[in-house]
Order: sequence, then structure tokens, then C-alpha cells
Amino acid sequence: MVLAGRRQPSEGDWYRHHFHKIPKIVASPNMKLLRSAVSHNLNELFGEGRGFGHGKKFLWSLLLDEIAIDPAVVHNAHFNCAGGACYEHSHNVNLNLGDEDGMRRLKENIDSGLVHANGAGQTPAKEALVVSIASFSNSGYHAKPVVILASCKSGDAKLQQLIIETVEIVWVEDGYEGKTPISIPSAPMAIPSD
Ligand SMILES: [Zn+2]
Repeated sequence: MVLAGRRQPSEGDWYRHHFHKIPKIVASPNMKLLRSAVSHNLNELFGEGRGFGHGKKFLWSLLLDEIAIDPAVVHNAHFNCAGGACYEHSHNVNLNLGDEDGMRRLKENIDSGLVHANGAGQTPAKEALVVSIASFSNSGYHAKPVVILASCKSGDAKLQQLIIETVEIVWVEDGYEGKTPISIPSAPMAIPSD
């Protein structure tokens, strides 16, 4: 049955209600830029005026998952560099798109299989690792993505631990700790005080 005169709330309405403006989440081109990307995303999602918490404290959990992406090298406008190279092998590669030589070297690194993206015959980075933060709350509990990293799926537990630690460190250093504690499944749960 269609109710006349009343529009179904769209996803955009949900975001406007919760965020006042739609947050601009950025993917991290590689591990070197992870801290900067997490800081940007936390501010977009939890920064001043985002309406989270309203003075209340919640427990938050970190959720890790992988999503399918197009194996392609794209322009990451936020960092003005190449995106879509796997995070596992791109930390020592210059992803800057500022000069032709750099772009040529990047293509060589992809074609030779050093970095995984969409090089012919190479392992493609066809999934992205996503780390989201979700609150234990009756409202606004939706998982909010703070890390998006293209992956060739060779990431080991150590690298994933480093990514989780980076989120925890930025959460504290950027001042969200005072708002509310964060917990992860492998860490002892902190009981928040009101
Ligand atoms: Zn790789």
C-alpha cells in the first residue's frame, strides 16, 4: 500500500537528520596516509556539531569487514594521489600524481606486480578492508566507516592490528576519548561512567 502525501524517508534524510550535512569519507591510498585519512573521517563523522552522544557516553565497537571494489587505479582527490593500490605493498611506493616520472614509476610498480591494483596478469586489489565504528546505543548505532583500504588480501594479523591501533590512537589524540571510550573485541571492555 502506498501512503499518499507522505514520502518515505530516504537514506539522505537519515544522514541529514544525524549529520546535518552528508559526511565525506575518504579512502586511505596507503598505510602512510592512514592516520590522516582516519583523522579526516572521524571529524566528518564525530566532529563538532555532529550530534553524537549529546553528553552521554557510549561503548563503541570496531568492526572489520571487506567489500568488493573495482580493481582500478583512480584519482584520490582528497590526497591528490593514486588510489586503488593494495595497502599491503604500497607503503614504500610514491602514489603522488604530481609528475609524469612518478606516474610512470607507479605504473611500472603495478605492471611488475610489486604493487597490486589492476596490472595485467597480476593479483588485483579487488576488495577493500573497511573498519567501522558502531555504538552500543538505541539510536545512531549504525556502523560508520573510518578506514577504507584497497587490499590484495595478503594482509596479515600484524598489519590489521596496526590499522586498529591507528584508529585507537587517532581517536584519543584527536580528542574523542573525552567524549566516549572505545572498545574493541580483543580488549577488555571499559564501563563508561555517566
Ligand atoms: Zn598487494
